[in-house]
Amino acid sequence: MLDIAIVGGGIIGICAAAYLAEAGRNVTIFDRTGICEETSSGNAAAFAFSDVLPLAHKGMIRQLPKWLADPLGPLSIPPAYLPKLLPWLFRFWRAGRTDRYEAGLAAQAGMMRLAEAEWAGLMARSGTGNMLHEDGSLELYESKAEFKASLPGWAARQRFGIGFRHVEGGDLAALQPGLSPRFIKGTFVPGWKTVADPKLLGKAVWAYAQSKGARFEKVRVEHVEAMQDGATLMLADGTTRQAKQLVIAAGAWSHLLARNLGDRIPLETERGYNTTLPKTAFDVKRQLIFSGHGFVITPLDTGVRVGGAVELGGIERPPNYARSKALLEKAQLFLPGLNPSGGREWMGFRPSLPDSLPVIGRTQKGRSVVYAFGHGHLGLTQAAATGRLIRELILGQNPSLDLSAFSPNRF
Ligand SMILES: Cc1cc2nc3c(=O)[nH]c(=O)nc-3n(C[C@H](O)[C@H](O)[C@H](O)COP(=O)(O)OP(=O)(O)OC[C@H]3O[C@@H](n4cnc5c(N)ncnc54)[C@H](O)[C@@H]3O)c2cc1C
Repeated sequence: MLDIAIVGGGIIGICAAAYLAEAGRNVTIFDRTGICEETSSGNAAAFAFSDVLPLAHKGMIRQLPKWLADPLGPLSIPPAYLPKLLPWLFRFWRAGRTDRYEAGLAAQAGMMRLAEAEWAGLMARSGTGNMLHEDGSLELYESKAEFKASLPGWAARQRFGIGFRHVEGGDLAALQPGLSPRFIKGTFVPGWKTVADPKLLGKAVWAYAQSKGARFEKVRVEHVEAMQDGATLMLADGTTRQAKQLVIAAGAWSHLLARNLGDRIPLETERGYNTTLPKTAFDVKRQLIFSGHGFVITPLDTGVRVGGAVELGGIERPPNYARSKALLEKAQLFLPGLNPSGGREWMGFRPSLPDSLPVIGRTQKGRSVVYAFGHGHLGLTQAAATGRLIRELILGQNPSLDLSAFSPNRF
């Protein structure tokens, strides 16, 4: 019998493996593709520690009609998928109610404090500190009205001690030379960080976990079952494995395995698109955030990554790379000197719950199964904190955070 089996070798599974292996536990990751080869490989590379606002805030709901009107805009829903999505959208809308929004904000802010401390520790222990870029981020506005609409969000962040500085004129130009003059104001967030390349960071953290004894099996997990004192994994090659403890960290596919255990968790995917250009495409000084257009530009060690957007289109539909192209066209308008050639297009599946919080906790259906999924836009940012919380749950220690806001039973 295995000690601990983890389904999913994305950044969440890898960090859980690293924390458990550090505690001397025998961990095996099962993944159908490899280590950090899917959504965790191509994201925008941000440690977005100040990104504490639940997505269903009032401002966003107001933007929905405008965004949905443009099929290649920041948010799209393929019409054929809408009926399937409606229950999730209803929960999303309810999560924007003031009391729920405030509770979600406080839970997310607590998670982010832990996230920052845990990444600092894990990077030091795994020797990956040289992959951290501490340049902050610059959020950009095209009009006074857009800037004004952002102010309640900044005030909310301020309540949780998040530092920022609104900038304009020469200050703005110095933070990012070569910006289009259409941007009249910006907000600089010094505590926002990025990493050299999320895939390289994931592989390096995995190498560290392996050095502590973690192992990997490349195979699809078809089905899972929970017993009184363990779990069974049925694999696509027809074999089975027994484990004392099972962690489900299968990103946007996690709800399919949770359903095997009798849990119906409203996990959807917010598909996102980007293009990674050669490093020479533009001298980007720090992550640039175009919230009004739903995308960012990130300087990586391996290129310049342009993308974001949300497509609520489920896990089956093929990618529509017209969306990456539309974002790249906008980026050329915003950074007029940007060279758009030689890019690599990519799509990833953000695993998203309607209240913008992940699921971290035990299933009620069996004491031997722990869930760690649904981190939406923030999986890279919150991976080390999640690793710590999963270790605490499995070792039976007091959790570093009150986990009730993250409970699988909250829906
Ligand atoms: C465009 C875009 C930009 C983003 N930018 C950021 C950012 O800047 N900062 C940030 O914090 N987050 C960002 N995110 C979000 C982040 O990428 C995700 O939250 C995170 O990668 C999710 O990690 P995960 O380990 O849960 O899932 P994944 O990386 O998807 O890993 C899950 C793994 O499980 C495996 N799997 C699933 N089912 C099975 C099965 N049955 N059997 C075997 N294996 C299985 C899959 O093969 C996969 O490898 C972004 C996402 C996108 C799409």
